[in-house]
Amino acid sequence: MSRALAYAAFDKTSPFGPFNIDRREPGPRDVQIDILFCGVCHSDLHTARSEWAGTMYPCVPGHEIAGRVTGVGSAVTGFTAGGLAAVGCMVDSCMTCGSCLAGHQQYCDNDDITFTYNAPDKKQPGAITYGGYSSRIVVDERFCLRVPETLDLAGAAPLLCAGITMYSPLRHWGAGKRTKVGVVGLGGLGHMGVKLSHALGAHTVLFTTSPGKTADAKHLAADEAVISKDAAAMQKHAASFDLILNTVAASHDLDAYTALLKRDGTMVLIGVPEQPHPSPNVGPLIFKRRRIAGSLIGGIPETQEMLDFCAAHGIVSDIELIPIQKIDDAYARMRRGDVKYRFVIDLASLKA
Ligand code: NAP
Ligand code: ZN
Repeated sequence: MSRALAYAAFDKTSPFGPFNIDRREPGPRDVQIDILFCGVCHSDLHTARSEWAGTMYPCVPGHEIAGRVTGVGSAVTGFTAGGLAAVGCMVDSCMTCGSCLAGHQQYCDNDDITFTYNAPDKKQPGAITYGGYSSRIVVDERFCLRVPETLDLAGAAPLLCAGITMYSPLRHWGAGKRTKVGVVGLGGLGHMGVKLSHALGAHTVLFTTSPGKTADAKHLAADEAVISKDAAAMQKHAASFDLILNTVAASHDLDAYTALLKRDGTMVLIGVPEQPHPSPNVGPLIFKRRRIAGSLIGGIPETQEMLDFCAAHGIVSDIELIPIQKIDDAYARMRRGDVKYRFVIDLASLKA
């Protein structure tokens, strides 16, 4: 075991504070990473503040991890000390079922995924996993990603959750030229959705509750931006979308968006609100064979594909770099939708 510095939530309301954690010594297949940057996902907030069931305290969130390799086990082939490496939302899965073997570890048929934080740690029985709000992490190389050297590392960190969570459904539902894609909510996920959808060639429309964000949406390469509270503006897009990715982190009326899908169009639910959405009206679904679906992050091969796609298209997240000591303030701003468009923690501040 080796000591690592971390920041933890100790209960659902107290401010974050320093916390020492033990990281295992690298086993044969492990990669040890000095964490340089970690993005701040709304899932971190949901978990740290116990908005979802099952938070185990102290809780060290963080699943958008980018850093430098400081050691590798004897059987590691894909990483060497001194190189860059990244870790997303998972650090292990059964790796024997059909889904894992197909590279869709997030949908493990045995429900045997070890999430990067707040999960029982199979590698350290009795312990739980601690995420990227820390100085170091040790991860099985099969769950480590290669970060192209051309990408700004701080801006690349959010690709490990926000990026892949949007890339996977865009690819699965065939976003590309001659498709019209909507992205609901311009936060961390939403702004990556806009960039990736545009890069894939789709006509991309952003739906926001924040009038102040429409100009930004255009800078981020949205073709159009719609204030979702403006019924007339919404009506102009009725029955016209192939795909809508809904990232909103709060319960809301889904019917306003299903009405915008054309025949056989799909709305993918990605946000995981604390309270359930009101049940959608079945009529608009039945009459145009519309679908409501869900999507969870992405598998490891697809995450690597997404990082390489981002390198080829020069895509990183628009970030606000913060010291770890500002994490409570960042959460308060995220709750207000006041993020442009991802907070990223500079882990150098942990040692300061
Ligand atoms: P975020 O940065 O906070 O963005 C959420 C956006 O939703 C806000 O910026 C806001 O955009 C919009 N929104 C509208 N009404 C809201 C309200 N009442 N409360 C909060 N947001 C509201 O969050 P994120 O990191 O992108 O995550 C979004 C959701 O996805 C979270 O629930 C998160 O847990 C979930 N998530 C799911 C997956 C998955 O695999 N399915 C992966 C990661 C995260 P406007 O101002 O533009 O309206
Ligand atoms: Zn996340």
